Amino acid sequence: MFETLTERLQGAFKKFGSRGIVTEEDLDQALREVRMAMLEADVNFRVVREFTQRVREKALGAEVLRSLTPAQQVIDIVHQELVDMLGGEAPKLATASRPPTVIMLVGLQGSGKTTSAAKLANLLKKQRLRPLLAACDIYRPAAVDQLVTLARALDVPIHEEGTSVGPAVIAQNALEKAKRMGATHLIVDTAGRLHIDEDMMNEVAELRRLLQPEEVLFVADAMAGQDAVNAAKEFHERVGTTGLILTKMDGDARGGAALSIRAVTGVPVKFIGVGEKADALEPFYPDRLASRILG
Ligand code: GDP
Repeated sequence: MFETLTERLQGAFKKFGSRGIVTEEDLDQALREVRMAMLEADVNFRVVREFTQRVREKALGAEVLRSLTPAQQVIDIVHQELVDMLGGEAPKLATASRPPTVIMLVGLQGSGKTTSAAKLANLLKKQRLRPLLAACDIYRPAAVDQLVTLARALDVPIHEEGTSVGPAVIAQNALEKAKRMGATHLIVDTAGRLHIDEDMMNEVAELRRLLQPEEVLFVADAMAGQDAVNAAKEFHERVGTTGLILTKMDGDARGGAALSIRAVTGVPVKFIGVGEKADALEPFYPDRLASRILG
């Protein structure tokens, strides 16, 4: 992911060469190329427009710092704007004042919800916390079994009641169990559908009301392009999400959707999935991703 974008951005900045001063004309030419590169990488067009406008204003307003070449200075501004676009600081998970902290994972089928639930439990366990998983995705065939298998492999406790009881009942029982066993976190895998529909939204909203979670994380498949961005936006507007998990960041998509999802939804990316294995979930650091993109 991002290889082409990185190459194109480097190409845009190379044109500054070793010239002492970047003129307004040089800057505009470079920004035209940056704009094209970002659009081709599938970054949302509004996000691209605002991004290049901000870089332009800052670059023209900037004092030329002696220690930097002007090209470096422009690249530094682009870097900072990328970091801002990606959310600035690395976001933390909210914590309940009294445990367990409840984390609901929501999203479309196939986005990587069930896998991410297990990965998140694994991450918390490694921090010596005590998560309990709850299998509330009773609609996708085998989702419950999948989570049970993953939980066993990771040696993380799980609450499941098969697929014949409603998710609200399972979730409430899981919450009680989490309290009884002194779990620090309850991670709830909820139902995903192929498309957003009323039933799904109502069910997620009901679970949210019942559980009063500290976090509602929308799991978005970074390979799904702008569809993932739109789904994240819709979920946020209708249910209220507190963060995003971007999965399949190890894939070969152009990556622009992943870059614009924070700016479009206003919701911070908290974790990224970088593989199928249980340890392939990382906290999201905007600064590191910006550095990687600029190469
Ligand atoms: P769900 O329907 O949302 O619960 O989706 P699953 O958790 O079953 O994931 C769907 C597929 O995506 C599975 O084959 C996962 O192994 C795969 N997957 C999930 N996250 C990642 C990731 O970060 N990288 C890669 N390469 N595959 C992932």
